[in-house]
Amino acid sequence: MTKRNYATVNPCVMCQPMGSALAFKGIENTMVLYHGSQGCSTYMRLHLAHHFREPVDIASSSLSEKGAVYGGRENLKKGLRNVINRYKPKVIGVATTCLAETIGDDVPAIIREFKEEEGIGDDLEKDIIIIPVSTPSYGESHVSGYIKALDAVVRKFAETPGEENAAKIPNGKLNLIPTESLSPADVRELKEILEVMAGDYIFLPDICETFDAPLRDDLPKIASGGTPLSEIADMPNSRASLGLGIVSKNLALRYLEEAHEVPGFDVPIPIGLSNTDSFFTELVNIIGCPIPEKYQKERGRLLDAMVDVHKYLYGVKAAVYGDPDTVFSLTTFMLELGMNPVLVATGSKSRDFEKRIKQIFKEIRPELEPVVLDGIDFDSLNDAVSECSPEILIGNSNGRYIAKARDIPLVRVGLPIHDRVGAQRILTVGYKGAMELLDRITNTILEATDTFTAPVQIESYADQGEKDDCVEGAQ
Ligand code: SF4
Repeated sequence: MTKRNYATVNPCVMCQPMGSALAFKGIENTMVLYHGSQGCSTYMRLHLAHHFREPVDIASSSLSEKGAVYGGRENLKKGLRNVINRYKPKVIGVATTCLAETIGDDVPAIIREFKEEEGIGDDLEKDIIIIPVSTPSYGESHVSGYIKALDAVVRKFAETPGEENAAKIPNGKLNLIPTESLSPADVRELKEILEVMAGDYIFLPDICETFDAPLRDDLPKIASGGTPLSEIADMPNSRASLGLGIVSKNLALRYLEEAHEVPGFDVPIPIGLSNTDSFFTELVNIIGCPIPEKYQKERGRLLDAMVDVHKYLYGVKAAVYGDPDTVFSLTTFMLELGMNPVLVATGSKSRDFEKRIKQIFKEIRPELEPVVLDGIDFDSLNDAVSECSPEILIGNSNGRYIAKARDIPLVRVGLPIHDRVGAQRILTVGYKGAMELLDRITNTILEATDTFTAPVQIESYADQGEKDDCVEGAQ
């Protein structure tokens, strides 16, 4: 697509360690430390703070030239000591950045050494749990960083000896594990559904408080909330795991299935009608309870809203971009609404993305032929937009320059959203989320088309008036 593909220009993804921070920040009493240069943590802290409008602390081992030459062992140990003294966390997630990976620091070995020196054991109750994740950004994106961190957390707690693991008693709970970060509003909505339908569940990671905290006088060093550690340790005892996302592989879910025989099921992120239907159907299959009337009514209202707006949305050409599973679910919804997603793109490199997207087109609108791209940067997206001529863009706020330059309206969905407030309150999941998204898309199109068609409408009204006058005159 792009004629300048020898370099990445304005990446359409964020750094891999940032994905790990998104996951770690959804875990109770957890602090994140990046092993690498200081700029990585500054950039990612600001990126998350601008999106969620919350203070986001991320520590750094602050590698300098000396560390780069002689290795970052001492810096990492010093960083861990500082984090323990200042934040008193129960868990420290240590994510590597490009520099630490390039110089080849053996982070798990350094952590083992540190724990021996400090007398830190592996007891969940008494000790500080330190979890390393390898996340060089030149390898993959924030999406894989998120998935890897969740996998590392689940493995660590499942394999760490502690009271919860000693008793292998089935807990009857349902594990819910998304493959991509959802908004705090999305997490709240899903938790409400699970409370009504599943009763007991474990949601990992739970960012609804940590990234959307109420204002209080005493600002805690680590935001309260997050998935309780005892619950993570209890995940191997659950009746089943439900993964949200079918494009990326859900490593934590697969691990629980293979190592602890917890049956794992995957559904798309429940954005739109059929994806939310699949989510509820899978819940019914696993739990065996009927869908509550409240959600049946919400579904009916969504159908009603879809009929109402069909005349505005049918055939509208859209470009959808962002994280692979979010884009998959958004595209499904666009097709259900009768829109024409001419361009479907993700910045992540994904083996299954094109296959999944083409499959959903085949199922819903086989006559359409979209351009499907993975591993793109915004430069290539710009070229693709120029070739596909969409009438609306749907994706994160980093696409605003393309939208502005080409005068195409942009509906902001996903992460990051830096140029508007309220990203933490954007609801897209469930029937309610679909209705909110549908309203946003329709109103954006109405606003744009009003501008373009107003003179024509005025003219046609004027014609109508003249005709009416003639009729009156004839009478
Ligand atoms: S690309 Fe690598 S070095 Fe640069 S900010 Fe991201 S993690 Fe840090």
